[in-house]
Amino acid sequence: MPDRTFASVNPARPAEVIAEYPVASPSDVDAAVARAATAQREWRTVPVPARAEIVAACGTVLAQRKDDLARLVAREAGKVLVEAGGDVQEAIDMAAYVAGQGRNAWGETHPCELPDKIGFTTRHPVGVVGMITPWNFPVAIPSWKIFPALLAGNGVVIKPSEHAPACCEAFVDACRDAGVPDGLVNVVHGFGEAGGAIVDHPGVRAISFTGSVPTGRRVASAAMANGPKLVSLELGGKNAMVVMPDADLELVTEGALFGAFGTSGQRCTSTSRLVVHRDVADELVDAVVQRAQKLVLGDPTDPATDVGPVIDAASRDRIDGMVRDAVAEGAVVATGGKPVTVERAEGGAFYEPTVLRGVRREHRIAREEVFGPVLSVIEIGSFDEAIDVVNESEYGLSAAIYTRDINLAMRAVHQIDTGIVYVNAPTIGAEIHLPFGGNKHTGNGFREAGKRGLEQFSEVKSVYIDFSGRLQKAQIDNRPGPAAGDAS
Ligand code: NAD
Repeated sequence: MPDRTFASVNPARPAEVIAEYPVASPSDVDAAVARAATAQREWRTVPVPARAEIVAACGTVLAQRKDDLARLVAREAGKVLVEAGGDVQEAIDMAAYVAGQGRNAWGETHPCELPDKIGFTTRHPVGVVGMITPWNFPVAIPSWKIFPALLAGNGVVIKPSEHAPACCEAFVDACRDAGVPDGLVNVVHGFGEAGGAIVDHPGVRAISFTGSVPTGRRVASAAMANGPKLVSLELGGKNAMVVMPDADLELVTEGALFGAFGTSGQRCTSTSRLVVHRDVADELVDAVVQRAQKLVLGDPTDPATDVGPVIDAASRDRIDGMVRDAVAEGAVVATGGKPVTVERAEGGAFYEPTVLRGVRREHRIAREEVFGPVLSVIEIGSFDEAIDVVNESEYGLSAAIYTRDINLAMRAVHQIDTGIVYVNAPTIGAEIHLPFGGNKHTGNGFREAGKRGLEQFSEVKSVYIDFSGRLQKAQIDNRPGPAAGDAS
């Protein structure tokens, strides 16, 4: 019998238990790593295109189960049904993309500086990869990690968030049913300690972490102390949408609502700062406020619901505390600004879609990630000031600019210090074939998705083949060198 179990609940109705799992002990993690290592020894010998066929099959099974999985995401992570469907679709798309990579270039060839010699690179699996994931994309994020890791020939031990364990189990079940070999992908459950046991495990060569900055820092330093290991970090954001006076304000309004209140503001790329030129601030904020007040809060599985709950009461209280601090610092609530109860969602942690005006750059709400449905309006007087505001954040994930001036749009693309920039679209909406990730404290240089998604899961080997039949010395042969006896 396990010592301890925990339950995930429906955030809209916390009395409803979704699933219960044992909390993994260090010996459970040990067993999971051993299973992954054993299965990986066989898997690494499977040709890459054959691995890719299994990844493609995972996409097929996920597509067959899309509706059921989306319902589970809505019930366990509180995402409204259409967004829950998007979460699953992202995993289906990722399977197709990663499978295609299985017949793509696996390295580079290079000319060499000496005759009859060639250089090329090739990729090799790292072994067992440890993955630690958050709850807000409970199917998509495991897919961003697991599919490229499998293609690269690795075994996996994943610890999903304690808030969305059943979504990860359902995803991994689909992978097994699609033909992923037994033991290759292992799920362990629990809280920070279970994650820590993976990070510390000597049999885990790489850690792929997505979550908050404070946890990411702890994970990275533990992985270095027990390694060094390969560590990739995808962390938080403080994403800004810049609005210039020539922008199409109807388009901005729609984008701001989706960016700020989609997934109840709980995306790493959620729009949390509306950096608007003061010439259009009143008109824009009025429009956003009016539309925000019409959003329907409710049970995420009800198709009439626009905005679901936040993940739990602690998160709701943290969001409320940040709003109160903002007001104490001088911000004004234009709409929302408090927790709310919702019919037929007893005990759900709902927070009103909130717009704050009068936010200044130095306010806490302008600097720290809220991870909730709160949009802070910061007024600026020029393009250069807008860029300064965007870039002064310690985060660097996503940003957007709305303007009809192509020159300003391109200057923003060049000057904004984030990993993702949108023009005339909100800060959310990434597609899986482009690299995903951020600058500054949002990450440590890796990217997920796209071609670069494989980098964190493979070691690159440089190979030199000399077919001249003699010793050739790089940098020395056929190069002018210091003449013998030249003392000058
Ligand atoms: P979190 O940091 O609280 O938890 C993330 C995971 O880490 C969970 O599985 C948790 O159990 C585990 N964990 C906690 N302490 C640990 C420890 N000491 N050692 C190992 N593992 C530990 O984050 P969360 O609340 O689940 O997710 C929200 C955060 O994730 C936000 O900051 C959001 O911006 C970020 N996020 C980033 C991206 C991205 O790609 N950049 C995507 C989604 C979410």
